[in-house]
Amino acid sequence: MGIVYLTGAGPGDIELLTLKAYRVIQEADVIIYDRLANPEILEMSKDGCEFVYVGKEDGRHIMPQDEINETIYQNALKHDVVVRLKGGDPFVFGRGGEEAGYLHARDVKFEVIPGITSAISAPAYAGIPVTHRGVAVSFRVVTGHESPNKKTSQIPWENYKTDDTIIFLMGLHNLSKIAKKLIEIGKDKECPCAVISKGTTKEQKVVVGTLEDITQKAKDIPTPALIVVGKVVELREQLAWFEGSI
Ligand code: SAH
Repeated sequence: MGIVYLTGAGPGDIELLTLKAYRVIQEADVIIYDRLANPEILEMSKDGCEFVYVGKEDGRHIMPQDEINETIYQNALKHDVVVRLKGGDPFVFGRGGEEAGYLHARDVKFEVIPGITSAISAPAYAGIPVTHRGVAVSFRVVTGHESPNKKTSQIPWENYKTDDTIIFLMGLHNLSKIAKKLIEIGKDKECPCAVISKGTTKEQKVVVGTLEDITQKAKDIPTPALIVVGKVVELREQLAWFEGSI
């Protein structure tokens, strides 16, 4: 039985891969990867390494999670080194915890290799620090996958009224509902927000607006994209560095 490395691939820019991830990718007999993991990373593997695509896009699974779990397990029975490569960090909305739990229950050895999450790095490449002295003392990363209008919502929206920076992943399709909900709970409709698409890659696009007009402004922006809400967005005016550099 082999070892499984639940590995973060980083947000897009391949140079944001960790040295540890780079090492296990070179050692891998098989790499099981998602759509959000930059496919250029696969080219770093040794000759004969197998690739298994378990396409997963914005929370929608082409392969259901239980089949992904079983695929990882079956590969661990066949190979010495299995890399499960996931976009960003495996434990930030990556279902890495479920995959680790499945392996644990079957006595398969695994290690977790954290990755640079898009939640922080896409804003950084857009010139938006998620915290900033005198502007934001905290940030929160929230799933935007669930409609804010859902009756049984697990999201404590009322708590977000005073939040400094809020980052929504998987939320582009719910952008108008999220913005409306934040205004409804008492956030200023002029509160700055940004939508960042394909962050840290050459195709990065950033749209800046307010809670009131962001939906209209971001209507043509492609996925993957995340939403940043809070005054830190204004810092982009001085700190945007990446788009001009590529
Ligand atoms: N584990 C990943 C997140 C998986 S959820 C991480 O840590 O980054 C998938 C969501 O992440 C997407 O819907 C999008 O909101 C966000 N995302 C991933 N890569 C992104 C990128 N390069 N730019 C902007 N958003 C990204």
